[in-house]
Amino acid sequence: MGMIIAIDGPAGSGKSSTAKEVARQLNFTYVDTGAMYRTVTLATLQRNIDIENEEAITRLARKLDIRFRWIDTIHHTFLDNEDVSDAIRTSTVAAMVSPVSAIPGVRVVMAEQQRAMAENDNIVMEGRDIGTNVFPNADFKFYMDADIYVRAKRRINDYRKIGQSLTIDEIVKELEKRDKIDSSRSHSPLKKAEDAIVIDTSTLSFQEQVDQIVSIIRKKSD
Ligand code: C5P
Repeated sequence: MGMIIAIDGPAGSGKSSTAKEVARQLNFTYVDTGAMYRTVTLATLQRNIDIENEEAITRLARKLDIRFRWIDTIHHTFLDNEDVSDAIRTSTVAAMVSPVSAIPGVRVVMAEQQRAMAENDNIVMEGRDIGTNVFPNADFKFYMDADIYVRAKRRINDYRKIGQSLTIDEIVKELEKRDKIDSSRSHSPLKKAEDAIVIDTSTLSFQEQVDQIVSIIRKKSD
């Protein structure tokens, strides 16, 4: 088992961009578990599987081949060899991802795959339940959070990049809905691990977020 750095927190907390840069600086593998849940959601929508059909969605999750690849400096997600990086970021997928992620069978399958990824590798893994459920013994645990309007503003640009224009209020609603489902589900809900270091990014720059995390890791690993 390699070294594991777990970064959890809600959407727009800055975790994805920060986790990627921390991984780059430490030369660790970066794993975006949100992209995995989004990919299962996309596949569920593409096949028109009823959201109530938990067994069928779990079966589907088990057979999907989800992989990550860096192309130049952009992190891409592939589903069965097809690049789904943009398709998993649409508001349609965002609206369905929390109900799909609440299915216990789906979570078991994803967590198994996530643990397998750390077998021979040092990783920075970001998500909602990494420090609490996937790797309760992670070497480092961080919990990133921010004011809801700051989080929504960060997301506006992400939507623009894929050609979707949403208002701040629409995004605030989406985030609140997801937070509620993610933190109240019965299996591995979104919550701060007791031993996680909290980083509130509301007023931090990207550089500051990265520096805080990297310096904590370097100090303890010396
Ligand atoms: O991080 P991102 O916003 O892409 O995550 C999308 C959704 O995937 C979350 O709202 C949550 O429902 C689900 N998720 C999860 N567990 C994780 C990562 C993401 O349930 N570890």
